[in-house]
Amino acid sequence: MKIYIETDIEGVAGFCFFEHADPKMENIQHRHRMYRLLTDEVNAAVRAAFDSGADEVLVNDGHSSGYNIIFENLDPRCRIIHGRNCSGPHWLPLLDSSCDALVLVGMHAMGATPNAILPHSKWKVNGGAIYLSEGSMAAAIAGDYSVPTVFVSGDDKITAELKSKIPGIETAQVKQALSVYQACSVIPARACEMIYAGVKRGIARRSEIKPFHIPGPIRLNLLDSTGHIEMKEMFPEDVEAPTIDQAFMKFERRMDWTSFDTSKVDGFVFP
Ligand SMILES: [Zn+2]
Repeated sequence: MKIYIETDIEGVAGFCFFEHADPKMENIQHRHRMYRLLTDEVNAAVRAAFDSGADEVLVNDGHSSGYNIIFENLDPRCRIIHGRNCSGPHWLPLLDSSCDALVLVGMHAMGATPNAILPHSKWKVNGGAIYLSEGSMAAAIAGDYSVPTVFVSGDDKITAELKSKIPGIETAQVKQALSVYQACSVIPARACEMIYAGVKRGIARRSEIKPFHIPGPIRLNLLDSTGHIEMKEMFPEDVEAPTIDQAFMKFERRMDWTSFDTSKVDGFVFP
């Protein structure tokens, strides 16, 4: 059994601020403390996967630089995909139909979700017939490969969204979002217990949880804003493709801050 774990950091218990854009402003100690919390939560999910009978676990370090998880502290039985998440062949590298389940750790709500913690990215599918967060987008891409998404952890808003789209998905609500920069979190040790138990339940029930598949053809646009309040369409015309996986990658290639499928250095500076 092969389990794919997609990770982000905004939904980790205790995380309430984005990193500062100016590296001189950065509180390095704070950032590394958050990396430790993320690493512990991911480790809880990895252990649960192996304790459920997995013989292969792939972790994708999905936030920003793709270099957040302290991988030397990860369970040595897993493998990790790291490096900047917008410079590889795919947003979810190595995810394909050989995976038995997708697990989502540390997810955040889509942009403009009221009272969500650090919400951003709101994918508009088929003219607004459905809206996706980064978490439900990952689930939809997995759905194209018939891979069920069995677990999500994060705040109350993202767990509610995934539950509304994926009947039977297991969740760990590790914090209650109070505003964009404020939340009431469980203590990290408790968050790890909740994630361990939830991933075990999700993997045990994976045959009962249907892959989240959105039938094509797909029209896709992204609503976002720097202030996360006024949502604007990123491109005047929707991207069109036969599947959501293809539409997503076509869209990402058009964004000037990505360099998917290219080998050129893109000017990104290590955080
Ligand atoms: Zn992130």
